[in-house]
Amino acid sequence: MSEHDQAPADGAGALDGAAFHDHALHGFATRAVHAGQEFDPTTGAVTPPVYLTSTFVQRSIGDLRGGYEYARGANPTRDSLQRQLASLEAGTHAYSFASGLAAEDALLRAVLAPGDHVLMGNDVYGGTHRLVRRIFGPWGIGLTTVELGDLAVAREALESLRPRVLWLETPSNPLMKVTDITALAEIAHAVGALVVVDNTFATPYLQQPLVLGADVVVHSTTKYLGGHSDVLGGAVVTNDAELAEKVAFQQFAAGAVSGPLDAWLTTRGIKTLAVRMRQHSANAQQLADALEGHPALTRVLYPGLASHPDHELASRQMRLFGGMLSLELAGGSAAARAFAEGLRVFQLAESLGGVESLVNYPSEMTHASVRGTELEVSDAIIRLSVGIEDGDDLLADVLQALDALG
Ligand SMILES: *Cc1c(COP(=O)(O)O)cnc(C)c1O
Repeated sequence: MSEHDQAPADGAGALDGAAFHDHALHGFATRAVHAGQEFDPTTGAVTPPVYLTSTFVQRSIGDLRGGYEYARGANPTRDSLQRQLASLEAGTHAYSFASGLAAEDALLRAVLAPGDHVLMGNDVYGGTHRLVRRIFGPWGIGLTTVELGDLAVAREALESLRPRVLWLETPSNPLMKVTDITALAEIAHAVGALVVVDNTFATPYLQQPLVLGADVVVHSTTKYLGGHSDVLGGAVVTNDAELAEKVAFQQFAAGAVSGPLDAWLTTRGIKTLAVRMRQHSANAQQLADALEGHPALTRVLYPGLASHPDHELASRQMRLFGGMLSLELAGGSAAARAFAEGLRVFQLAESLGGVESLVNYPSEMTHASVRGTELEVSDAIIRLSVGIEDGDDLLADVLQALDALG
């Protein structure tokens, strides 16, 4: 197979709707609908087609149509998604992968070398911790986790470890802690660390880490961006052209790309991100307000509550407070399990960010892989992914399941 040894240039062949990429020119919801979504020039189809093709016919040897050669390197449907993602995160480059972890893996391989260190928040996504500890660890990468909410602790760790990468996630999972992206980026940059923000929970509608000073954003697009629990995917977005080239090369040379149908589904989901996030946030706020002080609960963890320790920071850093909410049950693990299994509208499943409400029991489900580590989650905690159903129905469901605890 004739294949060049380099990733193709960005957005190979695409008609660039440049205006929709500029976050100074159009608002978020407009860019979500239009960025990278030019109509099909041959038929006028308003929705760009799904390019289910692995290869592209050349005019003569090396004379490519629109720059497309072989779909691991570039596919128009993936390009369309990548331009949409870059626009929404106010980045210049975005790369789409087969899953969130595939995106994280490509980014880390692009920036780390044996002997380097990664510093992470102490409640990052369990799979991220597992990736660095169990895949990168044996290749000579060190890992330390700290409480990044405490800037003095973060500074001390950054100055003593001098990590290559600072990895943060805000709001965090499942404790909904909010960390200060701008402040941490400043401290991290002073010691030469690359600042990566996993923006899966907030989405670019609620917070744009690159604007706040981060170097790279990663996503599990499986969650809110896809938004309908029907597709896996991940993304890396940055403004750093040199880093972008390295990530592009990983995408091309290691090949964990998103397929065209997955990319298309993700793009379709993203078009409604703004309206969905408004409804997710309104429903979660309604639940949090109504549940705070309930006798069966010791804590309601939601950054939109004035009582949340990071509420003031969240109000500054985020447009709204999102759809993720955690509850701590007064009755401990037995009550938490009974509650999770007693919900009817909320379905018991891993994952989050879809239109339907889900309940997760982190200690045995999403966070089982970090049991016995410093990231272990209390077995009295339940995490809710609050969907876009009627808020009153969701509240009634939670109240009946709490009442049933007796
Ligand atoms: C789900 C998730 C990931 C991993 O993404 P996959 O698409 O499942 O590989 C990473 N970070 C966060 C915050 C997540 O919720």
